Amino acid sequence: MAIGYLNGKIINSDDPVLPIDERGHQFGDGVYEYIRVYGGRPFMMKEHLDRFFKSAEAIKLNLDHSREDIEEITADLIKRSGLSDCDIYMQATRGIAPRNHLFPNVPASISMTVKPFRAMDETLRENGASIKLLPDERWQNCWIKTLNLLPNLLAKQEAFEAGAFEAVLVRDGVVTEGSSSNLFLVKEGELITPPATKHILHGITRMAVIDIAAELGIPVKEETFAPEAVLKADEVFLTSTGIEIVPVTTADDQKIGSGKPGDITKKIYEAFMKRV
Ligand code: PMP
Repeated sequence: MAIGYLNGKIINSDDPVLPIDERGHQFGDGVYEYIRVYGGRPFMMKEHLDRFFKSAEAIKLNLDHSREDIEEITADLIKRSGLSDCDIYMQATRGIAPRNHLFPNVPASISMTVKPFRAMDETLRENGASIKLLPDERWQNCWIKTLNLLPNLLAKQEAFEAGAFEAVLVRDGVVTEGSSSNLFLVKEGELITPPATKHILHGITRMAVIDIAAELGIPVKEETFAPEAVLKADEVFLTSTGIEIVPVTTADDQKIGSGKPGDITKKIYEAFMKRV
């Protein structure tokens, strides 16, 4: 059963509980995390919480909760939900106060939901997905996982309307990441992914893939590349908590490599599934 949490209370995840003056609602003044639970256990929870606390610190938001508090709340929610394969969404905002750009002196709002896992269309994994290259119109601090996702949403929608699964963003002539995923190329047996600068989200799945590649003896280069490199790659894949690892076989309507999901992508996906 889907379940929610708001500032100390267990709620139904679809209860209308947020006051109008909530700063996440009015300003997007907050940060979030999205974590997958496999077999009752949150995957890479430590890394997700590290990023959650770093994001909060980066926007000068005091969470008023320790890591242990958050771990306890999520464990309790998972238990109450009775779900073993599910999604945890957690969000912290600068609280509830009359609308004013200046920071209020009120406690942060913490909310969470635990819901059944929203499975993606598995034919994408079997046949490969398509991407559309679009300008990266976001701000400079994409490494912070903030609620301000409008440029991501606009790009994703534009890609969708053009028949593509994901928008892959280009800033100053180099590829950054997907609208809600990181991107890897495979070229001559090596993985290439944009470096973890402030212009990309430091994806937890990206981190897992880099680690798996080391384990499998596949070299990884964290290097910038131009959009043309995507079209010339042997294989391309996307990573995120929700989609895990998805092969990309078409970019801007052009076939990548053989036009089929590649062997290295499959090998990495299999190793990833063993970990989860
Ligand atoms: N980049 C962006 C912009 C994202 O929204 C996401 C999904 N949270 C990712 C990358 C992938 O990150 P993760 O593997 O931690 O889900």
